[in-house]
Amino acid sequence: MTSEPLLGKSALVTGGARRIGREIALNLAAAGAEVTITYLKSRHEAEETIREIKDLGRLAIAVECDVRTEQSVRDAVVAAVNFHGHLDVVVNNAGVFQSVPLDQLTLEQWDDVFATNARGPFLLARQAISHLRKTHGRIINIGSLGGIHAWASHAHYCSSKAALHMLTQTMARAFAPEVAVNCVAPGYIDLGEAETRQEAEHFAAKTPLKRNGTARDVADAVLFFATATNFITGQVLAVDGGLGL
Ligand code: NDP
Repeated sequence: MTSEPLLGKSALVTGGARRIGREIALNLAAAGAEVTITYLKSRHEAEETIREIKDLGRLAIAVECDVRTEQSVRDAVVAAVNFHGHLDVVVNNAGVFQSVPLDQLTLEQWDDVFATNARGPFLLARQAISHLRKTHGRIINIGSLGGIHAWASHAHYCSSKAALHMLTQTMARAFAPEVAVNCVAPGYIDLGEAETRQEAEHFAAKTPLKRNGTARDVADAVLFFATATNFITGQVLAVDGGLGL
């Protein structure tokens, strides 16, 4: 395979300013793609990520977008298509994670997590599909091991990610034969934050491969789905070092 398999392609990554989304955007750019990232609050981080993508020699823009809002999603897709002229890859990375005991979970918390993690990717995909059909593009959703395994203090998060996994499969059928839709489900990803150091050590010890995942592990799985044969569709790929086994 060429080292720049995405040359001439364009990608839209939601929540691409920082953390895992940033790594996904940079990895797609390193593989040749022009990139639009969206941000909600992290405008400065988004500008920094855009600078790094441009340093790789790729065109890139950052667009403010709240995936809970139809109009905002519409504007982001229009901005991406106007900028690149076409759209080849959509990565639904934006998400929220919350820890709340189930008997204390509020209606607002439940609805907000679903609006971001499950409804957001639906809105994005619905808005982007006409463009992706033209390019025989890809949709890659970022799910979670929590959508496969039950975590007691994360009922709304786990349920929303399980919904996203099923949405991946329904979209794969609905958008075939032109567009392949797949999902990357990360396990414990260590982003090197001091406040989660103890927790990270605990999960690394529990993980069969004896380490936590990195943002790069997730980004490489996204790149796989972005570049693999489109005969792969509707799949949920755990990137978890065996933690879910
Ligand atoms: P974050 O929790 O850091 O969120 C990613 C981005 O989502 C944020 O930077 C934020 O943008 C954006 N975002 C949040 N709400 C909205 C919204 N309503 N509209 C648009 N954007 C929004 O994610 P991580 O980097 O930790 O993880 C990335 C993905 O991977 C997520 O989907 C997450 O659920 C999943 N995942 C992560 C794991 C981990 O260990 N970190 C494990 C399993 C899955 P901004 O900063 O601009 O506000």
